[in-house]
Amino acid sequence: MQSLTILGSTGSIGTSTLDVVARHSDRYRVVALTANKQVDLLYRQCIRFSPSYAVLLDDEAALQLRDMLNEAGSKTQVLCGVDALETVSSLPEVDTVMAAIVGAAGLRPTLAAAKSGKKILLANKETLVLAGNVFMDAVRKSGSALLPIDSEHNAIFQALPHGYSGDMTGSGVSRILLTASGGPFRMTSLDDLQRVTPDEACAHPNWTMGRKISVDSASMMNKGLEVIEAHWLFNVDAGDIQVVVHPQSVIHSLVEYIDGSVIAQLGNPDMRTPIAYGLAYPERIDSGVASLDLFKIARLDFAEPDFDRFPCLMLAYEALRAAGTAPAALNAANEVAVAAFLNHEISFLSIARVIESVLGLMAVHDVAGLEDVLEADSEARSVATQQVKRFRL
Ligand code: NAD
Ligand code: MG
Repeated sequence: MQSLTILGSTGSIGTSTLDVVARHSDRYRVVALTANKQVDLLYRQCIRFSPSYAVLLDDEAALQLRDMLNEAGSKTQVLCGVDALETVSSLPEVDTVMAAIVGAAGLRPTLAAAKSGKKILLANKETLVLAGNVFMDAVRKSGSALLPIDSEHNAIFQALPHGYSGDMTGSGVSRILLTASGGPFRMTSLDDLQRVTPDEACAHPNWTMGRKISVDSASMMNKGLEVIEAHWLFNVDAGDIQVVVHPQSVIHSLVEYIDGSVIAQLGNPDMRTPIAYGLAYPERIDSGVASLDLFKIARLDFAEPDFDRFPCLMLAYEALRAAGTAPAALNAANEVAVAAFLNHEISFLSIARVIESVLGLMAVHDVAGLEDVLEADSEARSVATQQVKRFRL
């Protein structure tokens, strides 16, 4: 029996995780579920999965949940705040932590899981973008097993040589090919991109996801964050990671070898596949995902990314090359800009303008520890908030 904490259980990844868990109640036991402030959904999840703990970030929401659960005679203990998120990520009775909070808010609890040596199913890519070296150091020191859940990185993990040590030299690997759907605006002209709305940006052609990552997919910043994520997970340089636009999202990514072989992982675009892979690794379990119908798909297309219409992707490569605190600044500026776009304060194209200005205004420092990262994150947020005013609609 594997016991789980699911950080962000009410989100897109969180609910997909519970869907897989529910298919295998003989293998998985839920110890803790957490959310920001979605009381009703978390309540229903608590009734269904009877976790020992439920955590809400928001204290009013936590009081409300406590009353509802008491009334229902539930034994689930309700906690609140960031400290409680860290607590349930490092409980001795927990084997595995699904890190599926969105954004930099996921950093502290995910890091707590790494420090306490948990098996980590990593969906929260922002943890690696923000604090790649700090997080990977913690994983190495504690001996945590780290399984990427982001579909591309899960595909790469599956396509790398068995037992890949994190060193490309001598591994036979020559390049990582990271596929990108191109998002809802793959064919939209630069002119039309000026007028796209948050709802249009969130209408992804292949995946159903939370609103922040949906906007990131539309701007291709998601792919930029994933380049940085791949760099830390697999220890590959920016120059060895090629983004390939592949609109069908059937090939989830590929690994190229020096002998010319290219190994890909294919599947329907459904996050339950990487989630089930991470949960059961190294075994395979049923995920509920339909079998891939190649006859129906019929063709697979590929194109080079267009950096003119999608400058966020270039900004991410630049931040990775600048290293140090630059990726943390990129991530924070992106979170502020995306929130402003979703709030109708700035245009879609101004997301990249805000990020570019922030990167131009901030000095890059070395990262010696978590403090450096948190400082860069908070400085970038305040600079970005100023820049949002400059580009306000
Ligand atoms: P989502 O918005 O659907 O869910 C986010 C979850 O985090 C919710 O449970 C929410 O309550 C919680 N949360 C939000 N803000 C919080 C805060 N400040 N403190 C504590 N909890 C908070 O997001 P999602 O689409 O499930 O994505 C989650 C993570 O997984 C993101 O990092 C995303 O990049 C990554 N990811 C998602 C997908 C996908 O298909 N959805 C694919 C790959 C990677
Ligand atoms: Mg992805």
